[in-house]
Amino acid sequence: MADPATISGVSVFAPEVTPGAEHLKQLIREVPDFPKPGINFYDITTLLKDKTGFKETIDLLQQHYRSVPVDVVVGIEARGYFFAPAMAHALGAGFVPVRKPKKLPSAVRSIEYALEYGTDQLEIHSDAIEDGQRVLIIDDVLATGGTASAVARLVEQSGGKVAGLGFVIELTFLNGHQKLAGYDVFSLIRY
Ligand code: AMP
Repeated sequence: MADPATISGVSVFAPEVTPGAEHLKQLIREVPDFPKPGINFYDITTLLKDKTGFKETIDLLQQHYRSVPVDVVVGIEARGYFFAPAMAHALGAGFVPVRKPKKLPSAVRSIEYALEYGTDQLEIHSDAIEDGQRVLIIDDVLATGGTASAVARLVEQSGGKVAGLGFVIELTFLNGHQKLAGYDVFSLIRY
């Protein structure tokens, strides 16, 4: 494995792949022009179906958080649900879903956030997070960071403390990290 510091043109602090995750990049399928022209979609179903790739993904994410106290892992609908419950199991934490509107059956807290065109909304059960609980937020892809920063606010409004935000993939050219300034943001694979 090459030392990240020796890879020309790549920052020492942000190599394209977290050490140990190099081969996982080959398991991610890139689908051009999905769901609309101009979007290069990073399809993680090819990673999920790989019996060692999925396990290694969870193991590597878990390693990053093993010394971070976490009470609850929050997963973001829908693709965050592929990873967040497995992370909750690995860390010995609870799992809480953040859902699209009108899906949760009991009282909810909602947040509206801006999209490129228009707005979107996410919801969490009002009693899902107890005051002071340490919450890890997990999603598949960090793109512009709009979704993840809305979920971080939702967690804080619920009384939780954001222990970190973890992603399998980060699209660094969209600068999602900037929207999440002040939080521990970690990703395994970066494009
Ligand atoms: P964001 O722009 O960070 O709010 O991204 C919103 C959501 O869209 C993320 O949770 C990802 O699951 C998904 N997403 C955005 N861009 C991509 C992409 N290029 N490939 C796959 N998923 C994406």
